Order: sequence, then structure tokens, then C-alpha cells
Amino acid sequence: MMLDVRNIQTFYGESQALQGVTLQLEEGETVCILGRNGAGKSTTLKSIVGLTPPRSGEVIHAGTPIQGQPPHRIARGGIGYVPEDRRIFPGLTVRDNLEVAAYRRKGTAAHWTVKGILDKYEMLGERADQDGATLSGGQQQMLAVARSLMIQPSLLLLDEPNEGLAPVIVKQIGELIDDLSHTTTILFTDQSVRFALKHAQRAYILEKGQVAHASSSEALRADQATQDRFLSVA
Ligand code: ATP
Repeated sequence: MMLDVRNIQTFYGESQALQGVTLQLEEGETVCILGRNGAGKSTTLKSIVGLTPPRSGEVIHAGTPIQGQPPHRIARGGIGYVPEDRRIFPGLTVRDNLEVAAYRRKGTAAHWTVKGILDKYEMLGERADQDGATLSGGQQQMLAVARSLMIQPSLLLLDEPNEGLAPVIVKQIGELIDDLSHTTTILFTDQSVRFALKHAQRAYILEKGQVAHASSSEALRADQATQDRFLSVA
């Protein structure tokens, strides 16, 4: 199992955001977390990477319990994470954004290199020497995802990768997810059930900090009642 999240409870001060979230990913899967605003999607990802450490429960990455570890150690253990706000370095070039994120884990060959990424993803390669600040929102998102590859992740977490992006860019992000899913296990969050079902094999739906539904994308596609109940905007 690549990721085993067991009954995690996460708090912001006194306020409980996750009420016991449990989910699993097998190696090679691409899985989506859906749910309305405030359901706990972002907090689930932040809890896995140690930014909002769960107060109880377990997070096991490829057999290793990681809950309680600081975020930098969890990253070095091979979990790549792209937050909602992307956070690229605007004053660094595209190339340097990738360079500063590079980290080689002991015993692992570097599958992703700066040169490899710039060659493979033309959109970034063409802009290698431009400052991050000059990129469009969609280009920044591509760079943010590419940057997360520099730690050679065995698991990639993407928090609402499409937020605020134009439809044509959303399509490109979808293609990027499809492409990466050949080599990496991916867990992403999204607001759009349509996007999720297109690019993920399975989906979890969160409501009020709990998993309210789990199924294959195919089953959820056919289950309009569940979509209406947990995902439609009231
Ligand atoms: P969105 O799509 O709006 O990002 P989400 O499903 O990702 O929604 P979370 O951001 O994980 O939801 O929020 C879960 C709950 O935790 C919500 O009730 C939210 O108000 C609360 N929350 C999130 N971040 C904080 C914070 N920094 N401080 C206090 N409460 C927070």
C-alpha cells in the first residue's frame, strides 16, 4: 500500500476539521477527494504532509508511519505536495525554481531531473530563463507540479490544481495528471466532479470532516443521487 490514512482527527485550535478520516491508495493509483467548500479536502492533504499534524490517527506511507514527522522530513521521504496557492518563487527563473527543489533520496535514482523536465514539458522548457513572476496562472501551476517532482516523489498530492484556471488550462493540467499517473501514485482534490471522474480511478467524498462516500469513478458517475447529495451546490 502506498498510503494508508487511518482515522485521523485534525484541529485548528479548538475547532475540529477532520473527524476521523480514513483512506487508502495502492501503488500506481490516481484517486480524487471531492467535497463541498470546507468539507476538509485541503486539511486532509495538509495532515498527510505534516502541515496540520493530526491529533490522533495514523498516516502510513509505503509502510512507514509518518504522522508527527516535520513536513520537510515527510517530503524527503517521497511525498510531493502542491498546495492550493502554488507558491513558486516569483523572483527565480523557471530553471532555478526546479533547481532549488531538487533533492535526491538515498538509494533512489533521480527519475526527474531539471533537464529532463525542461525537455519533456515544452511550456516550461521554452520559458526556462524567465522569472516565475512572468508566468500565467496555468504556467505557474505547471511549474508548481514540476517542482514537486524534484524530490522524486513516490506519492504526489495536488490540492485543487485547477482552481482559478481557464478551461483550456484545466485540460492541460488534466493531461499532466494523466501523464504523471503512469509513473507516480497521485491523490488530488477538486471541486469538479467531472474533472475528477475523468482523471481518477476512484473517488472519496468528504463531508464535515468525514468520508461520506467511497467508490470507483465509474460507480460515482452513474450515481446521480450521491452526487446531488454531497456535491451539488445548494
Ligand atoms: P475548500 O474547497 O474551501 O478549500 P476544503 O474541503 O479544502 O474546502 P478545508 O480547507 O480543509 O476544506 O477546511 C475544513 C474546515 O476547517 C472548514 O470548516 C474550515 O473553515 C476550517 N479551516 C480550514 N483552515 C483553517 C484555519 N487555518 N484555521 C481555522 N479553521 C480552518
